[in-house]
Amino acid sequence: MRVAVVTVGDELLAGDTVNTNAAWLGQQLAQRGVTVERATVVPDRTADIARVVNEYHADYDAVVVTGGLGPTHDDVTIEGVAAAFGQEVVESEEALTWLAEHGGYTRDDLTDGTGEVPEGARVLPNHEGVAPGCVVERCYVLPGVPAEMKRMFEEVAEEFSGDPEHVVAVETSEPESALLDRLAGVREQFPTVGVGSYPGENVTIRFKGTDETAVEEAAAWLRERVDQ
Ligand code: ATP
Ligand code: MG
Repeated sequence: MRVAVVTVGDELLAGDTVNTNAAWLGQQLAQRGVTVERATVVPDRTADIARVVNEYHADYDAVVVTGGLGPTHDDVTIEGVAAAFGQEVVESEEALTWLAEHGGYTRDDLTDGTGEVPEGARVLPNHEGVAPGCVVERCYVLPGVPAEMKRMFEEVAEEFSGDPEHVVAVETSEPESALLDRLAGVREQFPTVGVGSYPGENVTIRFKGTDETAVEEAAAWLRERVDQ
């Protein structure tokens, strides 16, 4: 399964908030064997949200959107997603009933706009906050507040699956430029294994693939040929 992640928020683009939601979703999805092929940050702007959701919906098996669900003026994600699918935004009776039963809110307690989702969407209750999420045609819309986003993702996590990937890392003190011949060698020997090179204080070479034996063998092959 191939998935795109869209995180919404001007504060993410400005660097005022670190995009931990994208990192967390990337890890969760990878653990489930799902390949994340895009992680895009867009501003709180309806047209931008609509454009990427529309594009990614066409290209990937599912889209996960986080942020901008609340009722404040800058929360336009529901409108953007609705526009992407040519749907109206409607007040969801189901969401308001859930909030009344579980949150103790009456309609009058709630700010206008709370409980609005694209028409026909499946509502996802917010166990950690107020604004509900939703699912529209395999586009999952989750809140921006990390605790709310994580809890809501748990509700739908089973809907994301793929062949789990096995990952092995090999660290070396050699500089990346010195490793090129052996990186070429390991890729040639083990064509089914993905090889990534990540320089830091040391260089970490990460092997990934669905064939566990091949991944282990590739890592062992390189480990024997580099300085530790
Ligand atoms: P609410 O319903 O509370 O308004 P929301 O879905 O509208 O939530 P935002 O308004 O986008 O979410 O953001 C709420 C908070 O969560 C902000 O403090 C924001 O910085 C933080 N947040 C939003 N997106 C992310 C993200 N991708 N990674 C980390 N924190 C985030
Ligand atoms: Mg908000």
